[in-house]
Amino acid sequence: MSIAEAEVTDEKVDDAFIVRALKQADMNALRLALYHQTDDAALADIEVISIPVRGGAFEARVIHRDHHDIIREKAAAYLSDPKRQIKPPPSVEQAKPLMELFQGRTIDDAAFAFGYEDLGFADVPRDRPWKKEIDPKKLDNFEVTIIGTGFSGIAAAVQLDRLGIKSTMIDRYDDIGGTWHVNDYPEARVDVPTFLYQYKFEHDYPWKSFFATQPELLDYINHTVDTYGLRERIELSTEIKSARWDEANKKWTLELQKGDDIETRQSDVVISAAGLFTTPKLPDIEGIENFTGEMFHTTNWNHDFDPTGKKIAVIGTGSTGTQLMPALAEKAQELTVYQRTPNWITPIDGYHAKLTPEQQWLFDTMPGYRNWFIYQQHVGDIWVQNFHEMDPEWIAKGGRVNEKNEKLRENLTAYIHKKVGDKDGLFDKLIPEYAPLARRLVIDNGFYDALMRNNVTLESDGIEEITATGITSVGGTSREFDLIVLGAGFHVSRYFWPVEYQGRDGITLEQLWNKDGARAHKSITLPGFPNFFVIYGPNAQARAGSFHSWVEILSRYIADAIATMIEKDASTIEVKKDAFEGYNKRMDEAMRHILWESEGQGGYYVNEYGRSGVNMPWTMYEFYQMVREIEPDDFTIA
Ligand SMILES: Cc1cc2nc3c(=O)[nH]c(=O)nc-3n(C[C@H](O)[C@H](O)[C@H](O)COP(=O)(O)OP(=O)(O)OC[C@H]3O[C@@H](n4cnc5c(N)ncnc54)[C@H](O)[C@@H]3O)c2cc1C
Repeated sequence: MSIAEAEVTDEKVDDAFIVRALKQADMNALRLALYHQTDDAALADIEVISIPVRGGAFEARVIHRDHHDIIREKAAAYLSDPKRQIKPPPSVEQAKPLMELFQGRTIDDAAFAFGYEDLGFADVPRDRPWKKEIDPKKLDNFEVTIIGTGFSGIAAAVQLDRLGIKSTMIDRYDDIGGTWHVNDYPEARVDVPTFLYQYKFEHDYPWKSFFATQPELLDYINHTVDTYGLRERIELSTEIKSARWDEANKKWTLELQKGDDIETRQSDVVISAAGLFTTPKLPDIEGIENFTGEMFHTTNWNHDFDPTGKKIAVIGTGSTGTQLMPALAEKAQELTVYQRTPNWITPIDGYHAKLTPEQQWLFDTMPGYRNWFIYQQHVGDIWVQNFHEMDPEWIAKGGRVNEKNEKLRENLTAYIHKKVGDKDGLFDKLIPEYAPLARRLVIDNGFYDALMRNNVTLESDGIEEITATGITSVGGTSREFDLIVLGAGFHVSRYFWPVEYQGRDGITLEQLWNKDGARAHKSITLPGFPNFFVIYGPNAQARAGSFHSWVEILSRYIADAIATMIEKDASTIEVKKDAFEGYNKRMDEAMRHILWESEGQGGYYVNEYGRSGVNMPWTMYEFYQMVREIEPDDFTIA
């Protein structure tokens, strides 16, 4: 039987179409999907090799091209067999050997558990079901308020809905989406693969791009909110101003601003999913208020302003400034990039690639292929942790951080040289002083190529002042501009700011954090703040693993805490002070072995006290083990 006669409904899908689809497949993902379906031992025998991705910061576990044809042949035979069996997804027991086959190495229990959840074979892979029967009436008047309708808040709401706990979501913006609602500047898109940057409970979405654009992400967010029936419980243009613990009622009293009105309400539980990147940072530059031309922060893009033929300044060369600069440079008459600190920027293949119909068809048709494709992204991401740990022996020999980190520095330095050569002293200006990965790695969206354009200038002298008509640099060069784009990032360490939280006995966040900035227990709970949880709180940013995996894991932990409280007929759950302190002590000790505090000062990973307040020191699997469920002994549940 020819492929064209196979069980295919779309006319376009003929032999040639399927051959093209298989040519575009990830061979390792295809191999695993096929092996699970066919048990063909020859597929298990194929060697897996590692190839560097993004300048070597990440890896892919791939199949040597010598074996591609045989995998494709077998896949074509399977897909063209009208009587082909479609087995159910691998069980937990079946999955581990398959995952090891995929990686070509053994994996431990935590790697298995995390990876199995990421594979997404279960409908909601990070579910927390009830552990005992609960009278549904108990939940009737149980109020949970979630602050934020970005990806974190939505994950929490979906998780609680599974338990029958209906939450109310509030957001100060006039629409849902958080980061992706406000960051609609030109070229805004993710810098991690889309197939990683999505919920594992909602992973068969028909994505258009391998690195989703901002409009696609918003569509996905809206799709998720509607699929999970959350929309009618969302209150937009509603800002929480303060939250006070009411010991008599064992509830939080919330003060909400809706337009000019202030509304007060009570809630049994508050979950802050208020985001890390929600308070735009306006650069503290002399005279900034005097500029009479067009000026806006990247979160506040004025789409009515046409940059064509204009003189433009971009202040900031972090992820955002770097991402949008090339598109602006194409339109501008002249563009000047004001760089305070150069960043490590990695090349990336297929950053603008769209899914072809063939690829989409394969995802929809080859059972399990999508899951293994997602697993490929998960596995590739783990590698990045190799660059974080300080190696004392290496440092004693005069090295920096560790050998792999230095190798990465060499690769990235060579990449910069390849791109800009010896033009105008650019190369020297573009080499960061800090070690790679001590700050967020930036993607090359054409930044170096754009710097080679005749209408683009890199100014690294620092800014002396902004005048009514332009910018004067420290070196004394004045330039006039029609538009100044402020890409100076966000006040990341201001967790929950400016909401005034007051916990038990009137304790405030300022009091809890007065020594060296924001801290939490496992990033989620705070002593003195009963029934209060945070997603992506202090030190929540893991060393690897996708954002969505983590918000699902953190949501599961929160659901576990709330469900445990309800299962025990209690009305409060609060982390004990000694658990919080013990955890933070261990974290500080672990942090001493990681590069952020020694190499990343000045970047947003490190707070104003010089402490790493955003990232965590442990490996992703170590932290995962700590937050799979709550340790009841860490909490007072009453
Ligand atoms: C430009 C940009 C690009 C990014 N790209 C990536 C990427 O490629 N990969 C990646 O992993 N991460 C990326 N991030 C990080 C990104 O923020 C997270 O991936 C994710 O979208 C954050 O979701 P969140 O729900 O935690 O927070 P947010 O999306 O920030 O949502 C928080 C919400 O809380 C609301 N809120 C805050 N305070 C209050 C209040 N007091 N009252 C009411 N509502 C409030 C806000 O209005 C907001 O809607 C990027 C961030 C930015 C800014």
